[in-house]
Amino acid sequence: DAEVSAAEAKDALQRAHSRFKGVKEGKNADYIPSLAKVDPGLFGIVLVTVDGRVYSVGDSESPFAIESVSKPFTLARVLQDVGAAKVEKKIGTNATGEPFNSITAIEQNKEANRPPAGNPLVNAGAITAVSMVPAKSADERWTRIHDTLNDFAGRELPVNEEVYRSESATNTRNRAISWLLKSYDALPGDPMEALDVYTRQCSVNVTAKDLAIMGATLANGGMNPVTGKRVVDSDNAQKVLSQMLTTGLYENSGDWSFTAGLPAKSGVGGGIVAVVPGRFAVATFSPPLDKAGNSVRGQKAVESIITELGGDIFSSG
Ligand code: GLN
Repeated sequence: DAEVSAAEAKDALQRAHSRFKGVKEGKNADYIPSLAKVDPGLFGIVLVTVDGRVYSVGDSESPFAIESVSKPFTLARVLQDVGAAKVEKKIGTNATGEPFNSITAIEQNKEANRPPAGNPLVNAGAITAVSMVPAKSADERWTRIHDTLNDFAGRELPVNEEVYRSESATNTRNRAISWLLKSYDALPGDPMEALDVYTRQCSVNVTAKDLAIMGATLANGGMNPVTGKRVVDSDNAQKVLSQMLTTGLYENSGDWSFTAGLPAKSGVGGGIVAVVPGRFAVATFSPPLDKAGNSVRGQKAVESIITELGGDIFSSG
């Protein structure tokens, strides 16, 4: 229903950008050294509708590392290739309530006889998801994931080699997570190989425009509204969105759903994508993060745009 007009969309974006560009809270991720160097003043917002219209304001074409915003799209690949039942059984789908790189959450899940990884949008589950993509080699697995991200975005997305090297050299905690999962027999294959593909996936460069098109593809039931290509089936796009609603903003996912009322995913590169099923997606880029790792300006901008355009999915009209 409620189609967004060009004027409404442009006004909502413009207002959010001018209201929040001066916000100085938050700080760039610094546990990945190369992310600490990104200009914290960059701020872009893009809205893409399910009929393929694109509206932008600010730094909408600045490239940045996708990081955890890649996770829902690899989940889409895994759902498409192995099905929802295996995802639920082998990774789990419940919110952990803990940070994205929590080891305690893995231990607690194991203790409680739940799948140790937790869910596909925390690191443990995302690394497991990578390992579940059917392929004969790590290269082939990477190509399948990269192609999936490309199809969602509608263009060939480059890998940020500097971020990849920086993250590979410092991802000791993710190595611990991967080996811990292996010790519980919860991660098929070679854990360091899965982690390397995961790290590459997180190092893909996108713009806010790319993320908005990727989100609009989910909003449009898995068909890219700009290229017209079907990427995944609509029931799989739907499952990805359910997962984003409950786990997309890490330990703040409950607060996010309560406040904004729609599925979203954040990444420590400063990106957020939020999806209004059947209508549109909004993506933001602004590097300074709150304590949970979610972009401060991005959250405010999405909330304001969603309120103006009536995007809360639980609204009764
Ligand atoms: N690549 C990052 C990591 O594994 C992604 C984290 C994130 O964006 N929350 O730590």
